[in-house]
Amino acid sequence: MDYISTRGSAPALDFEGATLAGLAKDGGLYVPRSWPTLSRDEIAGLAGKSYVETAVTVMRPFVAGSLSDAELRELCTQAYGNFSHDAVTPLVQLDHQHWMLELFHGPTLAFKDVALQLLGLLFEKFLSRSDKHLTIVGATSGDTGSAAIDGVAGREKIDIFMLHPLGRVSDVQRRQMTTVLAPNVYNIAIEGSFDDAQAIVKSLFNDRDFNGRFTLSAVNSINWARLMAQVVYYFYAAVRLGAPERKVAFSVPTGNFGDVFAGYVAERMGLPIERLIVATNVNDILHRALTNGDYSTGTVTATATPSMDIQASSNFERLLFDLSGRDGAALAGMMAGFESTKAMTIPADMLAASRPLISSARIDPDGMALAMRWAYERAAQVIDPHSAIGLAAAREADLGETPIITLATAHAAKFRDAVERATGARPAMPARLGNLFEREERYDTLPATKEAIAAYVAERATPAA
Ligand SMILES: *Cc1c(COP(=O)(O)O)cnc(C)c1O
Repeated sequence: MDYISTRGSAPALDFEGATLAGLAKDGGLYVPRSWPTLSRDEIAGLAGKSYVETAVTVMRPFVAGSLSDAELRELCTQAYGNFSHDAVTPLVQLDHQHWMLELFHGPTLAFKDVALQLLGLLFEKFLSRSDKHLTIVGATSGDTGSAAIDGVAGREKIDIFMLHPLGRVSDVQRRQMTTVLAPNVYNIAIEGSFDDAQAIVKSLFNDRDFNGRFTLSAVNSINWARLMAQVVYYFYAAVRLGAPERKVAFSVPTGNFGDVFAGYVAERMGLPIERLIVATNVNDILHRALTNGDYSTGTVTATATPSMDIQASSNFERLLFDLSGRDGAALAGMMAGFESTKAMTIPADMLAASRPLISSARIDPDGMALAMRWAYERAAQVIDPHSAIGLAAAREADLGETPIITLATAHAAKFRDAVERATGARPAMPARLGNLFEREERYDTLPATKEAIAAYVAERATPAA
C-alpha cells in the first residue's frame, strides 16, 4: 500500500516509510492512496476470531509490501500479549442499548496502548532492516507520554525525549513516565504549558538543520500506524454485536480526532456503522465545526478530561481531505489559511458529505458527572471522566434500537479524584501499576524554549548516519 500526503506535494511512501516519517514533508498527514475493503463474507468470518486474528485481517492491506502475514501476526501477538484482559478490548453491557468497549487493559491503562505497543515493535522491526537510528521527540498532556515510553523503553536504535508541562499532569501520569529508568528514555518537565511543549516539538520538526542532524519521528496520532491499529477494535466490537447483519453506532470521546477517524476508516472499509458520534467536552471546536462549519480556536479550558482539552485537532485534516474529494492542493490552501488565522469555515458541501455518518455532541461538566453516576448506579460500572463524556453523548443520541458502543478510553484509576467526586466511589489502583508510588523518578526540568530543548536533545541523541 502506498501512502500520500493530505497536502498533495510530498512524495508517496510505502507503509514502512510512512511509519518512520510520521509527518509528511509538505506539512500534511499520510493517508492510504485508497481505502481497502473487506467483503461482507470476510467481515462475517471475523465472528469468534481472536483479537490478534482480527488485527491481522484488518491491517493486512495497510502493511502490504512492508510486512508479511507472519511478521504482522508475530508483532500483534507480542503487542497484545501485554494486555491484562484475554479479550484485549472487552465489551461490557450497560443496558439494552448501551455498551462500553474497554480499551484500557494495556500497560499504562489508556487506549493509547493499543496503538503504541504495536508502534514500538514496528519501529524496532523497520530499524533492524537498516542502519538508521530514530530520535522520537514528543509532547504529552498525560496519556500519550506514558504509553509511548512503555512502547519503546529499552528498544535498540531508538531514543525518546518526552516533554510534559511541569506540575500539570496527574501524579499517576507523571510517575508512569518518570519511573521508567531505561537508558533510552528522557523525561523533560518544561516550565510552561502543554501548548508550549507542543509548539517546541513542532518547531524542532520544522527546523531543517536539526531534523537533518537527527532522524526525528513522531509518536502522536499524526503517525498513520497509530490510527491503523485502532481500526481493529471497531471491527472486533461490531462483529460481536452482530455485524455485518446488524448495524451499530459508536460514541467516541474526542480530542485530536484520531480515535474517531479510525472509526471512519472502518466504515470506509465496509463495516456497517450507522453513526459515529464525536463527543467533545466544553473545548468544543469539533462540535462547532461539524454542526455549523465554525472551525475556529478559542482559549483552552482546563477540565477533568485533560486528554480532550484541545483546540486544533490534527487528524481532522484527514477527514477534510476525504470530504474535499481528496483534493490535496485545495486542502493545503485551507490549512495554510487556518494556520495563519486560527480559524476556517468548513464549506457546506463538505459538511453535507459528513452526514449522516458523523454527528457530534458537546458535554459540559454536569453532563459528564451525571453519566458517571448513571453507569455506577445503573450498571455497577466505575468509568473514567473521558469515557463518561462519550457515554453522555451516546445517551443523548436519537438512534432508535441501534446498539451504541461507547469507547472507554481510560481506566478510572487514572482519574481517581474526579471519579470519586462524581460517584463517591474511589477506584482502586490496578495491581499492574505495582509500587508506582515507591519507585525512583528521573526527569530533568528545563525552561520552555526551543533552544534549551534542542541543546538537551543534541547532547544525548544519536546523530543520523
Ligand atoms: C488521547 C485520549 C482521548 C482523545 O483521543 P483522540 O484520538 O486524541 O481523539 C480521549 N480519552 C483519553 C483517556 C485519551 O488519553
